[in-house]
Amino acid sequence: MHRKLRTWFRAQARDLPWRRTNDAYAIWVSEIMLQQTQVATVIDYYHRFLHRFPTVQELAAAEIQEVLKYWEGLGYYRRARQMHAAANQIVALHDGLFPTSFDDILALPGIGRYTAGAICSFAYDQSQPILEANTQRLYCRLMKWQDDPKNRASQQAMWGFAEEFVPQTNPGEINQALMELGSLVCTPTNPKCDECPLLAHCPTRKDNLQGEIPRPPKPKDFEHVHEIAWVIWDGDKVLVRQCLPGERWEGLWDFPRFPIEAEEHIEEGRSAKLKTHFGLTVKTPTLRMRIKHGVTKYKITLDCFDVQWKAGPQKQIGNYRWLKFDQLHEVPLHSTARRIAKSILAGRVE
Ligand code: SF4
Repeated sequence: MHRKLRTWFRAQARDLPWRRTNDAYAIWVSEIMLQQTQVATVIDYYHRFLHRFPTVQELAAAEIQEVLKYWEGLGYYRRARQMHAAANQIVALHDGLFPTSFDDILALPGIGRYTAGAICSFAYDQSQPILEANTQRLYCRLMKWQDDPKNRASQQAMWGFAEEFVPQTNPGEINQALMELGSLVCTPTNPKCDECPLLAHCPTRKDNLQGEIPRPPKPKDFEHVHEIAWVIWDGDKVLVRQCLPGERWEGLWDFPRFPIEAEEHIEEGRSAKLKTHFGLTVKTPTLRMRIKHGVTKYKITLDCFDVQWKAGPQKQIGNYRWLKFDQLHEVPLHSTARRIAKSILAGRVE
C-alpha cells in the first residue's frame, strides 16, 4: 500500500507552496491556515503572511492587531491569536527556534495532535500519525468503519489505524499522500475509486458502501438570531468598536451591533439601544443592507442601518473609535463588518 501510495502521490500531487519547504515554521503557518479553509483561499494568505512575518521572531514581535489584519478574511480569528501567543512562547522557551519534539510542539497554543504530527512528519520526517477530515474519511473507508466517526471509540480506532500505517521511512510523504488521496480521490460524494491506488485494499469499495461510509453527521439544530448593525456618521467619520476579550470576534473591529429579541420589535429595539448606548434619538434610519450569514450553530440575519450622529451626550467608551470612512481598510474587520465597509467605500447603498 505504501509503495502504491507513494507512486500515485509523486505523479498526482498538487504543487502547493508549503510542500516545497521543510521549514517547520512555514509548515505550521500553512497547517493553521488550512484548518476550516480551502487550499485555493489559503495560498495568497500564506504568501502574504510569510512575506510579512518570515520567522517566528518576527511574528512574535508584531502587534496582534497587525497579525489579525493579515488574517482578515480567513475567519476563525482565534487561530491567529493563538499563533501569535505560540510564537511568543517559542521565543520565551525555545530561544525563537521552532521546537523539534512532538511534545514541545503539542504544548504550544492552538496545536492539537493532528497539527503536531503533521509538522513533525512533514518538516522533520518523524514517524507520527495524522488524522484530519480527509484522512478520517479515507481511513473509515479503508477500515469499512460504519460507526459515527466522531465518537470516542471511532477516533481511537482511526488513530490506531494511522499509527500502524505510518512508516519509519519518509513518513511525511505517506502522510501527505493520504491527505491528498482523501482530498482528490476519496471525496465525500462520488469518490473516484477507479483512479484510487488503494482500490484493491478497500472493503468499502468492494461492498459498494461508499455512499454510507463514513456515516453522515446528524443535521445541526440551528438557532435563528436577528441583529442590527449601525453605521453612525459624523461628517466623513463612522463609529467603530473593537470587540472585547471573550467576545466572538475578540480583537477585531466592528460597527456597533445589537441583537434584537424578536422581528416585530426591530423598530423599538433599535431605537432603544441607540438611545441607551449613545444618547442618540433616531427618527429615520436608512437601511443600507441585509446580510444573512452563519456562525457555528447560529443563523444570523443582520440588518445594517445608516444614521447621522447628532450633538448630544456623546459617550466615548474605551473600545469605540471614530474613523474616517476611507480608513476602514486600515483596521482588521471581521467578515460581515468588512462587507458593510466595502459597501461604504463603494459609496453605494444595497
Ligand atoms: S477505493 Fe474508493 S472508497 Fe476506497 S479508498 Fe479508494 S477512493 Fe476511497
